[in-house]
Amino acid sequence: MATYFHFAPAVALAVAAGTRTVGWRLMLLGAVCAVVPDADFLLVWLRFDPYSGTYGHRGFTHSLGFALVMGLIAALWRRPAPYSWHQRGLAGLYLALCTASHPLLDGLLDAGICNAWLWPLDGTRHCLGWRPIPMQHVALWGWVRLGTEMLWIGVPLVLLANGGMALRALHRRWRAPIRLVSQPVATGVKSVGFGIRPNLPDVRETRFFRERKETNRRLQRRRRVEAMDWLGRELRTRRISQGAGAAWDE
Ligand SMILES: [Zn+2]
Repeated sequence: MATYFHFAPAVALAVAAGTRTVGWRLMLLGAVCAVVPDADFLLVWLRFDPYSGTYGHRGFTHSLGFALVMGLIAALWRRPAPYSWHQRGLAGLYLALCTASHPLLDGLLDAGICNAWLWPLDGTRHCLGWRPIPMQHVALWGWVRLGTEMLWIGVPLVLLANGGMALRALHRRWRAPIRLVSQPVATGVKSVGFGIRPNLPDVRETRFFRERKETNRRLQRRRRVEAMDWLGRELRTRRISQGAGAAWDE
């Protein structure tokens, strides 16, 4: 454990996202995910791999691949409540970020071995080019370390949490006016094309088609009546002419 604050990014991200997105149970799980990469000490202790091996300290558990796997497991986990895929995706993303925060904090300290960031693609250790947190020659336990961590990790995380809260407040404030502009634009884009019809039926269009159908029906009825009239007239004239011919023959 290189810092006391490995759990803190989980709390800061939860505060930034809001309790509707990240509840307290998920936040606790996030705190566990943010600390769990240091369980690799167990593998070193059991002599599974040396300290600097791929499965040693700051090895595979301190990689982006491991964070991704943790997020995927969380998203695909069968839970009792009927969670939507959107909620599962958000929970998975949150837990992946919490897990990835661990190697990030370790990597920003200027002391200690580097992380195997690219595992499982590459097990070799890579140091970050920027390691600003001064931890060299600072004892692992004590007030000096606590103060340094409060300054370099605590303050940025408080800013992150407050930034998230401010963004959410802004979104709430501007949600209605943004919708007022964006919804007609979206409907316009939909009605113009892309093979998508607008959700609401076009009233004028429907009325036009209805009127045209009615006109056609009326026209057909009139033609039928005219045809019958013509037929009747024709038959009458023929009968008359036949009658006249018969009279002449006689
Ligand atoms: Zn670590």
